[in-house]
Amino acid sequence: MVKVQLAGPWEQRSEPAFVQKALPCPPCQVPIPTACFGEHEVSPVPCHLQGPFSCRRPCGRPLTCGNHTCSVECHLVAGGNKCEVCDEGCSKPRPPGCPHACSRPCHPGNCPPCSQMIRQRCHCKISMLYVECTKLTSAAEQTKVELGSCNNQCPKELSCGHRCKQVCHPGVCEEKCQQKVKLRCPCKRLKKEFPCSLSDQCVVQCDEACRDQQRKVSQVKEAEQRAAQEEEQKKLQEELEAFEKRQQRGGGRRSKKRGRREEVEEEGGGGRWWRRCGVLVLVPLGGALLSAAAFYLLNTA
Ligand SMILES: [Zn+2]
Ligand SMILES: [Zn+2]
Ligand SMILES: [Zn+2]
Ligand SMILES: [Zn+2]
Ligand SMILES: [Zn+2]
Ligand SMILES: [Zn+2]
Ligand SMILES: [Zn+2]
Ligand SMILES: [Zn+2]
Repeated sequence: MVKVQLAGPWEQRSEPAFVQKALPCPPCQVPIPTACFGEHEVSPVPCHLQGPFSCRRPCGRPLTCGNHTCSVECHLVAGGNKCEVCDEGCSKPRPPGCPHACSRPCHPGNCPPCSQMIRQRCHCKISMLYVECTKLTSAAEQTKVELGSCNNQCPKELSCGHRCKQVCHPGVCEEKCQQKVKLRCPCKRLKKEFPCSLSDQCVVQCDEACRDQQRKVSQVKEAEQRAAQEEEQKKLQEELEAFEKRQQRGGGRRSKKRGRREEVEEEGGGGRWWRRCGVLVLVPLGGALLSAAAFYLLNTA
């Protein structure tokens, strides 16, 4: 209320024609461009409602896992108000050849090296090998071959019949057999070693020394044969002479023995009989030996 000043006594007090009153202003409707909590959009918000708002879209902020985004409705992030926590497993691709899952839940950056073991048969299939998965999957081709080998000699047999000389290896065996084989010359004096794979193209020839030796050997043989013949003849001769001597002495010895024969006869008739048989056998035997010697001499002369 404004107190009106009277200009003079002639002026009457009256109600003022205009009264000025202070009323509260209506809310300001001036639109102000404002972004939502997630900054998905900018919309005009009446001035009196000033401040960010939820647009009701999914939040979409990246989660700490680094792989996913928040699916909560557009929200304010402040104080205890946070985006959701990812609860998925790791979905990053595994190193080629690793059959195991990542040990960590959904995470940023590279997966940790696989700590599992891989169980596999060696190339030759005899041994069971346990290899660290990460070692195997990160190895170069050549190292992979080595890791898959039991390092024993390959058990397979080559077509030549020898055992493969390589250590446990993938694929087929190398047929170039390196096993040393001995080849001999026809007379067996010389011997040389060749790798098995070349042995069927190699021949060992006799050399001059071989031929010399063969000559000597045949000479020695001939000499031996001759000596043997001579020895045989000598023996026959001696036997004949001995026989003849016995024949000549036969009469005298018999008369000498006659005295003793009486004594012997008392012991038994066997001894006398046997002596007589001896003479009967020896006479034709001497003849046979004589004719054999003659035959032999005639043939060898
Ligand atoms: Zn929004
Ligand atoms: Zn995630
Ligand atoms: Zn969020
Ligand atoms: Zn693995
Ligand atoms: Zn991972
Ligand atoms: Zn093996
Ligand atoms: Zn061989
Ligand atoms: Zn082999």
